[in-house]
Amino acid sequence: MGLIRAVFDAAFRQGGTRLKPVGPRWPLLLFHVDTGGCGGCGMELEALGAGAYDVQGAGFGFVQSPRAADVLLITGSLTRTMAPVLEAAWQAMPTPKGVICVGNCAIDGGFFPENYTTMGGLDRKVRIDLRIPGCPPTPLQVLEGLCSLFGKRPEGETSADHGAGSSTSS
Ligand code: SF4
Repeated sequence: MGLIRAVFDAAFRQGGTRLKPVGPRWPLLLFHVDTGGCGGCGMELEALGAGAYDVQGAGFGFVQSPRAADVLLITGSLTRTMAPVLEAAWQAMPTPKGVICVGNCAIDGGFFPENYTTMGGLDRKVRIDLRIPGCPPTPLQVLEGLCSLFGKRPEGETSADHGAGSSTSS
């Protein structure tokens, strides 16, 4: 979690059991790129950002440009067509910056392993700061995964209440 740790070191300081925002990076800004797959993970991310979940209250926001982003949020298996788009987004982001993979496809290719059109997941290709597995992970599981970066859980109901799996990080 080296890169993402640099983001947090630049943006936050720890106070007691909570991480308090300092400086401009509050909320932590996420830029989403869907690189392939079936689109299901992207739909769950759209649901997460649609307002039913307190994403901003948890300390995160979505932006429309990589130039304004702290973290690249990737869903889907990486198609060869999208590889240069993903690289361009990464290069456009200011430093420090990090990578979060949402869903099995983004992590290891899932149902879309490497072939002549697809490069599979990003595991062992790039440094991933946080992995949120699932096919797809629910919006709440994504939010819990994001909150794990802060060492906390989202307020209110959690996916554990529904017997769902938990998020993991690298
Ligand atoms: S992980 Fe599952 S839901 Fe997400 S893009 Fe891949 S096949 Fe679709």
